[in-house]
Amino acid sequence: MTDQIKRIHILHYGYPICGFTNETPDKWPPGHRWARIDDAEASGHPLFCQRCRDALDLREHEKRIQELRETGALPQLFVR
Ligand SMILES: [Zn+2]
Repeated sequence: MTDQIKRIHILHYGYPICGFTNETPDKWPPGHRWARIDDAEASGHPLFCQRCRDALDLREHEKRIQELRETGALPQLFVR
């Protein structure tokens, strides 16, 4: 397996969080790799998937919202 890396995705529960495919990594097209969600080295890689990064940011954002909601710091009106 020496195929050129095209894109590095974040794998979460067996699937890329950007949703570029619904397949598990063994069925991904050549060149697509995956990294763990907490792999800082991969997230700094130039071929790191931008949509995965966006999806990750969104997840972080939602986690933050959830925390605020749980501490009561966020008015329920702003919670979807
Ligand atoms: Zn991706």
